[in-house]
Amino acid sequence: MEFYYPRTVKKTVALLRRPSSLAVAGGTSFIVKPRVEHLVDLTRLELNYIRDKKTEVLIGATTTATNISESQVLGRLASGILRAASSIMADTQLRNVITVGGDIACRYIWANLPPALMVLDARLKIVGSKERVIPIEKFFKSRLQPGEFISEVIVPKKSTKGKGAFIKFSRTKSEYSLITVAVYAERLGKKTSVVRVAVSGNTPPTRIKAIEVGLQGKVITEELLERTTMKAVAQLQLTESYIFSEDYRRELLGTLLKRGLKKVLMGG
Ligand SMILES: Cc1cc2nc3c(=O)[nH]c(=O)nc-3n(C[C@H](O)[C@H](O)[C@H](O)COP(=O)(O)OP(=O)(O)OC[C@H]3O[C@@H](n4cnc5c(N)ncnc54)[C@H](O)[C@@H]3O)c2cc1C
Repeated sequence: MEFYYPRTVKKTVALLRRPSSLAVAGGTSFIVKPRVEHLVDLTRLELNYIRDKKTEVLIGATTTATNISESQVLGRLASGILRAASSIMADTQLRNVITVGGDIACRYIWANLPPALMVLDARLKIVGSKERVIPIEKFFKSRLQPGEFISEVIVPKKSTKGKGAFIKFSRTKSEYSLITVAVYAERLGKKTSVVRVAVSGNTPPTRIKAIEVGLQGKVITEELLERTTMKAVAQLQLTESYIFSEDYRRELLGTLLKRGLKKVLMGG
């Protein structure tokens, strides 16, 4: 197996186009796969940055979880939801190398950053033979083409003015998340104007539109929150797990969702 350390996007794309190539960023989920002969390191591409632009915050794909958790710029967006999501994954040494691009691209069910980025309406810049920008949700419903990789995460500032909350449930603090919940909401007077909810852990990272539609434009009461959340959770298809029974996980997901929603919508 050979390692490559390209310094330009063009060279990286050319190396990744070979079917026997695999990108490596933090390397924390690296598993030797059959047919992989060329490992293409992305960390020399100078993609470790957080840039505060007028209408967006740009996060380079190899920005580490530690960089995100310590960023003052990201701390100001939606109650610091990205800082929260990146500060409670794995342990300190791992957070120093785990990258935002890797946390998204590995498509693990327990990933913290995808649901937090989903509720901020983030988009991904993907480079390859052509450059394209796609909503993060679309990434989880599609595949990268040969040669393509994520180069940047784009967070629109207009989607971050409200309140956010992030909850991770795991058996120990540094273990993989069993459930993660991300909530974002804005208000107009007494009514909600925007509600976005996403989860991972029990399902691949996904938005829960039934809750968003059920709570949007409404005056929030405990009763409405309970009814909307429990109905949506009952309809969710959960991924199989040997750790807890499905009933328990469904109950827990409902409880954590209500906790996140209450924090953001009712201040409690
Ligand atoms: C004990 C432990 C506990 C953990 N707990 C959590 C947790 O609770 N929550 C959480 O979110 N994470 C957790 N993680 C981290 C997570 O499981 C992955 O290891 C990590 O997110 C991968 O990031 P990386 O930068 O190391 O990617 P790598 O391991 O380098 O790559 C992962 C995959 O993504 C691809 N890839 C990497 N970067 C890109 C890119 N820019 N574009 C396209 N493809 C790319 C690679 O080809 C590879 O297939 C944990 C890890 C460990 C070891």
